Amino acid sequence: MNLSRDLDRWLPPGARELLRRIGSCAGDLGVQTYLVGGPVRDLILGRQSFDLDVVVQGDAPAVAHAATLPDEPPPVVHPFFGTATLYQGAFRADLATARAEIYERPGALPIVRWGSIEQDLARRDFTVNAMALTLGGPRHGDLLDLHGGRSDLEHGLLRVLHDASFVDDATRILRGVRYEQRFGFAFEKLTLEALQRDLRYLDCLSPDRVRHEFERTFAEDEPEQALRRLNTLNVFSAIHPGLVFGPEKAWILEGFRRRALPPSQLYTVYWCLLAWGLSSMEVETFATRLCLPRRIQDAIADAVALQELAPYLDDPGLTPGQVFEVLHGRSVAALIVAERLFVRPFARSSLSLYLHRLRHVRLSLTGRDLQALGIPEGVLLGRILSCLRTARLNGEVSSREEEAALALRLLNDA
Ligand code: ATP
Repeated sequence: MNLSRDLDRWLPPGARELLRRIGSCAGDLGVQTYLVGGPVRDLILGRQSFDLDVVVQGDAPAVAHAATLPDEPPPVVHPFFGTATLYQGAFRADLATARAEIYERPGALPIVRWGSIEQDLARRDFTVNAMALTLGGPRHGDLLDLHGGRSDLEHGLLRVLHDASFVDDATRILRGVRYEQRFGFAFEKLTLEALQRDLRYLDCLSPDRVRHEFERTFAEDEPEQALRRLNTLNVFSAIHPGLVFGPEKAWILEGFRRRALPPSQLYTVYWCLLAWGLSSMEVETFATRLCLPRRIQDAIADAVALQELAPYLDDPGLTPGQVFEVLHGRSVAALIVAERLFVRPFARSSLSLYLHRLRHVRLSLTGRDLQALGIPEGVLLGRILSCLRTARLNGEVSSREEEAALALRLLNDA
């Protein structure tokens, strides 16, 4: 089967030109190149794809150098890994030397040696990702489909290439759920059985690899779908027994996603939502299991602390100053998650009050202004500033003059 017409139609002109150049320069060097994996899958599905992953049956860095025009930036090459990245305007292509992999023990990174395109495809996760298109020469666009990927694509099936695939690398469980939800596919029967049977191999993965898969899941267009599915397939409980992601969290996450926050802020919100419901001890083991960065650890610890504070915050008699006192300095991501998940009505309105008003309240006077009023720098000044802030939050003072008068009264009483 030849897909060169589809390839030409599907690729933007710059990307088409880049692939043609790679194919023909490799031909001049006597080596064969292939477009592989995700872009081939997406081409057949008719979906936009921005990765151009190319496998070279030979020295990928040499092909990258040969395919770079004199006025273009040099390719970024990693000779040890046999990889290179080529840029042409807005487009980039990642070239890798064809490789074979051997898994010595579950979860460990494989031992890699150079190999053929067939071996390179045989090491892949799912049949739909294990297809290649020949680049350059008379066979340009020929489909290499040794594992039935095209038929599985047509039937919307995710199938591993061999029975021990999840044992070798359990990140494929999380990858598979992402594809299943992104494309609306289903796991083929034996693959689903293997997935459920091999959940325990998630324990063999390093924290960094598990965290990376979570982050890639967060980056999906609709991450709540994949997270729900990971929950129902018991993947979450296999990663951490307390981790739950039910329909309510999914619904709330969708709401946050639609707010279009910057990704780093949004992901912190997602982590807090995931961690919601864990105890303070569980949150520590969860953070260690995924080796979460300090910033995220602090945010999820705040989310747990807020759950513990809910009964206190649920008191309708709390003054704004008291609300500020307990919430000031906490992660905003944890606060906005708690605002959605608190069931106690007064606790929820205390949070809203803090998030939407109190945390933005500023005094008119600065420490310097207080010094000019004759209050010496030191502990007393700090205490007076804090009293002024409480008075401002509680509406007891509302102008610069009233703040100054209160400051002087406090100084006299000190
Ligand atoms: P996406 O659209 O999510 O980027 P992709 O298929 O391009 O999908 P990548 O993570 O960029 O995914 O990986 C590129 C290719 O490398 C995959 O298509 C797959 O063939 C292979 N691959 C990646 N990770 C694994 C893995 N853990 N086990 C086996 N093959 C993998």
